[in-house]
Amino acid sequence: MKTHRIKVYDRFIELVKKIYELRYRAEYLAWEGITNYRANVKPIVNKTMALDDKSLKLLTSKEMALCLKKLNNKNVHESLTPEKQTNVRIITNRYDRLSRLPTALVRFMRKASVIAYEKWEEAYNASDFNIFKPALRKIFDLSVEASRLLRDKNIYDGQLDKNEAGCTTKFLDPLFNDLKNKLLHLVKRIESHSIPTPVIKSNFDIKVQERLSREVLKVMGFNFSRGRLDSAKAAYCCGSMYDLRIVNAYNEGDLSSVFGALHEGGHALHEQGFKEKHFCTPMADCNSSALLESQARIYENMVGRSEEFWSYYYPRIKQLFPFLDKISISDFFMMVNKVQRSLIRGEADEVTYNLHVIMRYELEKELFSGKITVDELREVWNDKMNKYLGLTPKNDASGVLQDSHWTEDFGYFSNYALADICAAQLTEQLEKDIPNMFTLISHGNLMPLKLWLNANVHENGSMYNANELVVKLTGKPLNTDSLINYLRRKYSKIYGIRL
Ligand SMILES: [Zn+2]
Repeated sequence: MKTHRIKVYDRFIELVKKIYELRYRAEYLAWEGITNYRANVKPIVNKTMALDDKSLKLLTSKEMALCLKKLNNKNVHESLTPEKQTNVRIITNRYDRLSRLPTALVRFMRKASVIAYEKWEEAYNASDFNIFKPALRKIFDLSVEASRLLRDKNIYDGQLDKNEAGCTTKFLDPLFNDLKNKLLHLVKRIESHSIPTPVIKSNFDIKVQERLSREVLKVMGFNFSRGRLDSAKAAYCCGSMYDLRIVNAYNEGDLSSVFGALHEGGHALHEQGFKEKHFCTPMADCNSSALLESQARIYENMVGRSEEFWSYYYPRIKQLFPFLDKISISDFFMMVNKVQRSLIRGEADEVTYNLHVIMRYELEKELFSGKITVDELREVWNDKMNKYLGLTPKNDASGVLQDSHWTEDFGYFSNYALADICAAQLTEQLEKDIPNMFTLISHGNLMPLKLWLNANVHENGSMYNANELVVKLTGKPLNTDSLINYLRRKYSKIYGIRL
């Protein structure tokens, strides 16, 4: 009996590994299109769609169904190790989800998404929401159709659950209302104490910025023998723990690429931190979008925007860009932490950022409840922007068209706020476990931080979602206390007020 069980599990893992191999092949192909400006994107899109098709066939195959049925038998399941149980659970969830959707619909959704991205790009460049509207309506209708097939009650919950298992509006509503009210109060208080910051007019050479990104990644502990750094229009990260591809974006006018390197580096360390023996299985993957983003935000914000990080790094930056000699470290620190109402989520500071996110969450919820339509999205967007951030977009590109997320689906934005909440709770725990962590960071030693994340977060793979892991490590569920305390402490010091 036992040998039979082992054989079923082994066969199951063989199938799972094939699915992951197809996924990585598709990711590397997409990477080629993104990093090679001259690449012809059409054949790449066709090839990645063919790989996705193969992977879908394997996942929903009769053999997979049979393996899952046997492995989910109560006695068999209980005899598996927690790691093996996790692999079975995650693949079962994916199987359940995808096998309930007709293959034709899945294919149609992918095609609609490719068209929507093209339309979004055209609309963004022309700053005209009307160009994107029909394609967006299609994505919305297909998402509703898929959600109806997957869930009976709340359609929007189906969208949330896709990215963060078990996540519902019932869980998010009180959490985000609490966060929104506290953030609105903080922004008002900080604004009443604004202090002038210097403006840098010189250009930051792109080649030097690339060198700097490489250095930052090395300090973080990124293993370059198993990964690489390239450039493109937008920063991102893809691939497996053995061949990780970080892509960073560079602007001559600022040093935002440093934060891009820290953010994507956080994702990369997560991937490189999985246990090798689990390669190509959910145990060497993260199934929680909130947890995934939290790893990037710890490095980008909690570490990368800290006084200690810059006390170590600013002298080096001044060596690379001598014109910064005129700017004191305290002025520079102020510049990278300035709280300012702005139109673009991707450029927002730590305090206003989640107001942008919550606004999108509310818009999506209203869209799925039928309170508003795709046609009304621009007007409602502008109203909400005014209500929460006191600003009106001057055009669609700086308003409703600024993010490309809706070319794929809905229900992702909320994870950015969950990630910040999670990152703050994890950092609080980190400081309890390594009390001198920030002193070490001020000496350029980021290794204890990486090792803690490896042991407490990364090595768990897909075993826990963000809430489960935070409960396990801190004893408390996801809540706004740590994030708000962190922001109060930090900005009270920067602005010289008691928040
Ligand atoms: Zn990210």
